Amino acid sequence: METVSVKDVGRHEGEEIQLKGWIHTKREKGKIAFVVMRDGSGFIQIVLEQEKLEPEQWNQLHEASLESSIIVRGLAKSEPRAPGGYEIHASFLEVFHTTKDWPLGRKEHGIEFLEDNRHLWIRSKRESAILRIRNTIENAMIQFLSDNGFYRFDTPIITTAAAEGTTTLFEVDYHGDKAYLSQSGQLYAEAGAMALGKVYTFGPTFRAEKSKTRRHLLEFWMIEPEAAWFQYEDNLQLQEQFVTYIVKRVLSENEADLSILERPLEPLQKVEPPFPRITYTDAVDLLKKNGFDVQWGDDLGSPEETFLANYFDKPVFLTHFPAKIKAFYMQPDPENPDVVLAADLLAPEGYGEIIGGSERIHDYDLLLQKMKEFNLNEEQYQWYLDLRRYGSVPHSGFGIGLERTVAWICKLDHIRETIPFPRMLHKLTP
Ligand code: ATP
Repeated sequence: METVSVKDVGRHEGEEIQLKGWIHTKREKGKIAFVVMRDGSGFIQIVLEQEKLEPEQWNQLHEASLESSIIVRGLAKSEPRAPGGYEIHASFLEVFHTTKDWPLGRKEHGIEFLEDNRHLWIRSKRESAILRIRNTIENAMIQFLSDNGFYRFDTPIITTAAAEGTTTLFEVDYHGDKAYLSQSGQLYAEAGAMALGKVYTFGPTFRAEKSKTRRHLLEFWMIEPEAAWFQYEDNLQLQEQFVTYIVKRVLSENEADLSILERPLEPLQKVEPPFPRITYTDAVDLLKKNGFDVQWGDDLGSPEETFLANYFDKPVFLTHFPAKIKAFYMQPDPENPDVVLAADLLAPEGYGEIIGGSERIHDYDLLLQKMKEFNLNEEQYQWYLDLRRYGSVPHSGFGIGLERTVAWICKLDHIRETIPFPRMLHKLTP
């Protein structure tokens, strides 16, 4: 008999079907038992009556505690009161493996315990909902870029270049030479854009962050579109369409998961272009008026970002940063070279930065001058300078952090729940 996924049971109403999964909850009432079963795609109630099962099957059910693995056959019926709207009236049960003491059975566990048992915690209703939403977001990102003519372009993980500053590098011994785990695929993506026009990278990135925050991981996934002939404004419009598309896909594909998370939908439904914009200079003034101790030229930290992200009810672009606090490759604003044509996108509801992007310097002499100002080793960047030696063109791109996007869309307090196995300060297992 073919096995049906829980999420597809609705298509088999009135049929005898087979499901394979795990016992999520179990309630026994004399000669009848109610099991909520999960199979990864969803949850469904199974009604088991003693008289319809073999005595051996009924005994097995009695012995099985939460997270025992089971095979069930029975009739799929519509039941508006059951979660998901359907239930199965069982005619056969096999307990494939009996779990004796499920360690996560209690209602409340401390976060440390849950983190240590992440390999089991991901089976919970909440965690699996988050991971299904993450999957939708990843698919949506790839689909959007592919539909818009971007080619996937995989960049190296072991590199010699520090794309995002030298303070967060993970060093690797490369047969005696010093190498680093990639902080960003951007510099290579720029080479890709000159070869293929529009590209994106999608890979793990590594930053040896030294402080514990709710929005930093040491290993995270970033998608980085980069396009030739794209300027600052094109870049911002692409981001608006991209983020709007992702949110719409989650709203349409993960209704049940968002409801498990009790995620209010209204703020997500508001996500439509155009997104508001505020310059760094205006943001500093606004922050000062609201009691923040910031000066022009300061890098805005989490509290400042949180304030700005709460101030607007849509994602907001924070633009035109001082050149000194941003990366060396960012194009200065022709009207004021003290600031760069860069924008971060801050997610609303206090989430803060999910995207960092900019137009890149395409002029050879200017790039070289900036590399000197930033004390970079020119030797290592010769290949990158070549992109400005041979047919240089204006180009722009951005990097969106997958986990920050998941945290915002799911409205999570902490980034640790957005990835199957988070790598955080002093946390390397499981
Ligand atoms: P922040 O200032 O918040 O540390 P950043 O300015 O270093 O971030 P970028 O270098 O612009 O970030 O990286 C692009 C995107 O990658 C960010 O907008 C964010 O979504 C994500 N990102 C950066 N660092 C991390 C991290 N340590 N953990 C998770 N996501 C991150």
